[in-house]
Amino acid sequence: MKSTLLKGGWIVTMNARRDHYRGDVLMRGGIIVAVGKSLNAGQGTEVISADDCFVIPGLIQAHTHLVQTLFRGMADDMELLDWLKERIWPFESAHDENSIRASAQIGLLEMQMLGTTSILDMGTVRLHEVVFAEAERSGMRYWGGNCLMDKKSHSGPLYRPTRETLAYCEKLIREWHRKTPLLQYAISPRFAISCSQTILKAAAKLQKKHDLVLHTHASENRGEVQLVRKLTGMDNIKYLQKLGCLTPQTVIAHGIHMNASELKALLQTQTGICHCPSSNLKLASGVAKIHSYRQRGLKVALGADGAPCNNMLDPFVEMRLAALLQKPHAGPTSLPAREAFELATLQGAQVLGAQDSIGSIEPGKRADIVVVSRSHPSVATVEDPYSALVYSCSGRDVRDVWIDGKGIVRDGVHQVYNSKDVITNARRELKRLSERLT
Ligand SMILES: [Zn+2]
Repeated sequence: MKSTLLKGGWIVTMNARRDHYRGDVLMRGGIIVAVGKSLNAGQGTEVISADDCFVIPGLIQAHTHLVQTLFRGMADDMELLDWLKERIWPFESAHDENSIRASAQIGLLEMQMLGTTSILDMGTVRLHEVVFAEAERSGMRYWGGNCLMDKKSHSGPLYRPTRETLAYCEKLIREWHRKTPLLQYAISPRFAISCSQTILKAAAKLQKKHDLVLHTHASENRGEVQLVRKLTGMDNIKYLQKLGCLTPQTVIAHGIHMNASELKALLQTQTGICHCPSSNLKLASGVAKIHSYRQRGLKVALGADGAPCNNMLDPFVEMRLAALLQKPHAGPTSLPAREAFELATLQGAQVLGAQDSIGSIEPGKRADIVVVSRSHPSVATVEDPYSALVYSCSGRDVRDVWIDGKGIVRDGVHQVYNSKDVITNARRELKRLSERLT
């Protein structure tokens, strides 16, 4: 079995003691087998210098939409509900197999090049097998599923009948859930507005039956919150709780506009939140009080959301923005760099229920590792690794990426995809999709 020794990097372990030091990491068979100072390379071990680099746990994005990557730059400067109805839903409904594959490919390529090793992804209402196949090909650690939209009055062109949707979910679970150790199906009601009570209850049941992550959007936008109240007579989070959708394996994307009783419900059920700071700013959704959520004990992960509401998929940008956004209302010490880094590593793992296998560099964990160069003038003189990684680095600085011990990016070059081909194909498929729209 091939071993790889990463030598002489500044290792940010994220272990319980939060040790960071200059040392080595040894990987074998997809696992981190040793972390320490001056490890010996056995015979046949590939030795890679990480000199003048940070060696960090692979970054985790717990909310994204690969199927939307092609729509980047086509839905700027709008507010959530209009953004969805006028742009995103018609675009998603215009997808065919080739355009979905192109969209997933370019999104996976970008995310991996920028240091993301795990994602929780929400698809559109169909063709999710294409996304699974591409996720498998890319080597990404992937949680995701088709999105559920069975309320005819509030789903636009993406409406699908309840029974048909649930049969499709079962099919994807049978064919893709844990097909490889890197792939997991996540049951994904889009949001309370587009889902019937029946399907939300069924989603909770499927989650329990198959031990799935349940992934939804909630309380992102004031108009959305008001509409849920009008449609259901309840607050958004309490409504999801009533239908059984809040669990320790549930991830609520955004969670900006919530009252005390809703926060209590999230805490009681140990539901995770995925904070998406760029998206929340760009769609004028608001600022989630992450500092206060964490003080209450809520689990908070980080995500870029989809490309049309960001428009980057760079986890370093999200860490930086997460830290900065808390300070004007909660003070300069709120969400310090180390905590922002934790959101994209250990906490991301925790909201996905994967804290035993990913999120830190410790012996026994899966080898999801990113090497970040500190040669750029923006970061070259910064000694504190958390300060460097959160405030000064960006995806630009990612040199190497391993997922499950497999070298996905080496010296800035993607090892699975030919970037040029992926981009050419994405441009062609975007043109075709635009023609289908007109
Ligand atoms: Zn989203």
